Amino acid sequence: MDCDVVSPRIWLWTILLFSFSLHAAGQTVEAAKQRVFRAGAATSNITPLLGTVISGGFQNHAATKVHDELHVRCLALDDGTTQIVFAVVDSCVIDRGVFDAAKKLAHAATGLPVENMLMSATHTHSGGAMTDVHQSKADPVYREFAIRRIADGVRLAVGNLAPARIAFGCGQVPQHVFNRRWYLKPGVPMPDPFGSQDRVKMNPGSGMSPAGTLPFTMDQLDRPAGPTDAQAWFITVRSPDGRPVALLANYSLHYVGGMGAGEISADYFGAFADRIEQLLGADRQGPPLVGILSNGASGDINNIDYRLPRAIKPPYEQIALVAEDVAQEVLRIEKTLNYHNWLPLGVAQKDVMLGIRKPGSREEVEKARAIMKGSKDYPRMVTVEEKYARETVVLSEYPPRVSAPLQVFKIGDLRVFAVPAEVFVEIGLELKRRYPTSFVIGLANGYHGYLPTPEQHVLGGYETWRAVSACLEVDASTKIVAGLEELARQVD
Ligand SMILES: [Zn+2]
Repeated sequence: MDCDVVSPRIWLWTILLFSFSLHAAGQTVEAAKQRVFRAGAATSNITPLLGTVISGGFQNHAATKVHDELHVRCLALDDGTTQIVFAVVDSCVIDRGVFDAAKKLAHAATGLPVENMLMSATHTHSGGAMTDVHQSKADPVYREFAIRRIADGVRLAVGNLAPARIAFGCGQVPQHVFNRRWYLKPGVPMPDPFGSQDRVKMNPGSGMSPAGTLPFTMDQLDRPAGPTDAQAWFITVRSPDGRPVALLANYSLHYVGGMGAGEISADYFGAFADRIEQLLGADRQGPPLVGILSNGASGDINNIDYRLPRAIKPPYEQIALVAEDVAQEVLRIEKTLNYHNWLPLGVAQKDVMLGIRKPGSREEVEKARAIMKGSKDYPRMVTVEEKYARETVVLSEYPPRVSAPLQVFKIGDLRVFAVPAEVFVEIGLELKRRYPTSFVIGLANGYHGYLPTPEQHVLGGYETWRAVSACLEVDASTKIVAGLEELARQVD
């Protein structure tokens, strides 16, 4: 149709439609203008005083040397309606009492709802003890200090909120994750500390064997009893002019460790943070760029390939190598990402009731007390049998059930699941199968020990041996996954 034959009525409609769409476009632009996405990041130092108890071993060790400083590393995000904060703490395990107290203080200072804070421990085994575990007792002075400093970190990150752009991505770092639970060749005895036989062995080759058994030789090893997860997820934030603000990553590796007794270090979590800040080239800016590495679903994953003869490196050399590889892979993917001007944020949290595996009878507890009294170093428990006898006695005083916090953060399409346990990799993989754009932060918002799947419980092994650090009911992971799915639906 030729232009000059268009009727005046059609022209009128065209003009009306055009002005309407201009108006609508104007509204969209206006809405986008109003939807300012903001981010802020900060750290606070939580290095303990020398002499403070180090957490993570079966015994008390006092800090005698600081290899590298410990931090709370925080990232605050704000979509204009909802604010969320991640606080990742260089500590082995942190109970809910510490996290709740820190959240309360941070809420009082910022007004941020406590449900909108996701706090987690990295699981470095060379940090100060905030929580009793095995025979390492929390240092009450350090505990109070850490509560204040975690709250400070959140407050500082919220205080640094400024317009920002956000992206997330996922790399693959398969070379540093190994399932640490192994089937052994038929006929190799694997006694547990309670007089039964296991079907798998944690870290074959380590000293964690009941009396009378030796670490296993390579020709006795059969195959790993579970998978690994090579994914390295990360959330990255830049200022509108491109300056890096923060990068929070997640990798499913328990820790690297290997440092000497008494040494304070943030393990590879701290080394990653340091390296990514260096690689992004903005670690001298103000406010400083904050690198963060959270612990994924890594309860049964270590950094040792038992298939190969072990070339033991000096401890910090291995830590630097793992940190380098994770940081380089994250950076490689980061360079390919398109940053969003705005993404919606969502939060859901609930508690789930979980049973505790308590000793079955009074006789069992009395027998355990007798084993404890027989310790040559009483009250110090030295042998594996004595240590687990102590755990039996401690657990006999526990309530039959605990209430454990579950939480989901949603950032655009990305779901972050927070679980208060040392989550087995199978559980993280299951959640990733159901929600391919997701990751788990373990040891988050509380601490309830190892979280194997029911199938892994059947196989036995260290992570299932009943202790305060492994006391949840056999079906706990099923209940936790169901609870997380319910929360995932709530944030959709
Ligand atoms: Zn652990």
